[in-house]
Amino acid sequence: MSIESSCSGAEQLRDLELVTQNLTLGLVQYDGAGCVLTANAAAERIFDMTLHHLREIPFQPPWRMVSEDGKILPEDEQPVPVALRQGESHEQVVGLHWEDQACTWLKVTVLPIASPDGSQSRAYGIFEEITEARRMRQELERLENSLRQAQKMEAIGHLAGGVAHDFNNLLTIILGQAQMLDLFLESPALREKVNEIQKAGERASALTRQLLAFSRKQEAKPKLLNLNSVIRNAVKMLHRLIGEDIELRLDLAENLPHVHADPGQLDQVILNLSVNARDAMPDGGVLTIRTRCCDSSACHHSCDAHCEGGVVMEIGDTGCGMDSETCSRIFEPFFTTKEKDQGTGLGLATVHGIIKQSKGHIRANSQPGVGTSMIVCLPAVTPLEESYHEQSGMRTHLNGGAQTILVVEDEENLRSLAHEVLDYAGYSVLLAANAEEALQILRNRESRIELLLTDVVMPGINGISLARQAQAILPHLRILYMSGYTDRVRDIAALDPNAFLHKPFTPQQLVDKLGALFNADPAGDRPKKP
Ligand code: ADP
Ligand code: MG
Repeated sequence: MSIESSCSGAEQLRDLELVTQNLTLGLVQYDGAGCVLTANAAAERIFDMTLHHLREIPFQPPWRMVSEDGKILPEDEQPVPVALRQGESHEQVVGLHWEDQACTWLKVTVLPIASPDGSQSRAYGIFEEITEARRMRQELERLENSLRQAQKMEAIGHLAGGVAHDFNNLLTIILGQAQMLDLFLESPALREKVNEIQKAGERASALTRQLLAFSRKQEAKPKLLNLNSVIRNAVKMLHRLIGEDIELRLDLAENLPHVHADPGQLDQVILNLSVNARDAMPDGGVLTIRTRCCDSSACHHSCDAHCEGGVVMEIGDTGCGMDSETCSRIFEPFFTTKEKDQGTGLGLATVHGIIKQSKGHIRANSQPGVGTSMIVCLPAVTPLEESYHEQSGMRTHLNGGAQTILVVEDEENLRSLAHEVLDYAGYSVLLAANAEEALQILRNRESRIELLLTDVVMPGINGISLARQAQAILPHLRILYMSGYTDRVRDIAALDPNAFLHKPFTPQQLVDKLGALFNADPAGDRPKKP
């Protein structure tokens, strides 16, 4: 745009001066050596200096110029000297790092101008303040990152949940058949072998629970626990895990109040924290597991300000420790400082999830070169019962009733296992591979049917709608759902918490559950004759 001039040169200069002084952009004129000649009001504001002081800049500015990554810029890499050296316009983002640690971010454009005879040059610097815009951009990036992270977690959660679903079906068969075998075997040596199969199956089932805890699909099965017993139990496997170079010390407070948590999940917490401690001590050291009580008034010393008191478990090591940057990210999923095949970055994310689910909290205390303490605080509960005990080794007693049960399960092996178990326990059994078949049987029923035992997730009509349609045909039909896919468990639990059997279940659990259902509601609700 060219300005058609109808005023004198002096008037034009005055106008320009007025415009310059009212610009929000800082405008500074430099001589060929990079010294300030003039500056407008915005520049004085941005640099927090009068023109008089700006002219003295090479001596003592109250800020240091830094690059975008925060490094101090040497004089010859600052925008004005660069533009003067190159003899062409130059753009650069810099920060002014003030003595009080604040930083003003600037987009700088420098235009060098040569004199007509080429002998002397000068330059104009235009300074745009972008501190707020930059902060917004960083905040947006951070939000985008956490969204991406959440989406990644969700995808993994789906995957883990799906695998665990199939896995639970298989485990129900393995554990169920093993328990049936146990019933028929007389030889103690053979029963011992079956017992080993059961133990392995139970471990696999605990693993599935961990997978589900991570994907948040598993509802925890909290029990009243003595944390010390859980630790003593977990320590048995810890010794093997941490190796001989690491000394394991226990410092467990007596008379600890009980906590309400899932024992399998707590095992996982102890395991993950101990493995991290081991990894931090490649040349050996001391791993200490300590417990203590804390009341709310003292608690902010040991955990954090929101704590209402509880039981503290501290797992400490004398390892490499962490700097504050690492420490601030350890609970992020996939954050790891380990080699690709050694770390997944999921350990502490899982631990964090579990502790949150148990209404507790966790924090890290760490010092590089000294060691790390992971401090877990769980709410204390009044002791009612010690319930952390091993169940395996008990011989099964499958005594059922004489009622008729309709079993609906799409997995053939599971269907026949249920058949076998119920048959053995004395029940009459009808089988259906899906909801359509089941409804057919219910409509054409020739015998009484007292209970519908149905899978929840099935192709076609699912277990919940099947139950609804079945009760439309037989209003007093009892329902027992079986599922490992806990997505829908909440729906069912909302209906009736007693009408649900978690997969994997053992024959004993199935028969017990049926017994409880029939006993709760003995005879009054026999299905009516149509
Ligand atoms: P992973 O162990 O797979 O790396 P985690 O979530 O368990 O994932 O831990 C994340 C990171 O936290 C580790 O890579 C490590 O940098 C750091 N960390 C965790 N525990 C400790 C510890 N006890 N000492 C030092 N660093 C630790
Ligand atoms: Mg780990």
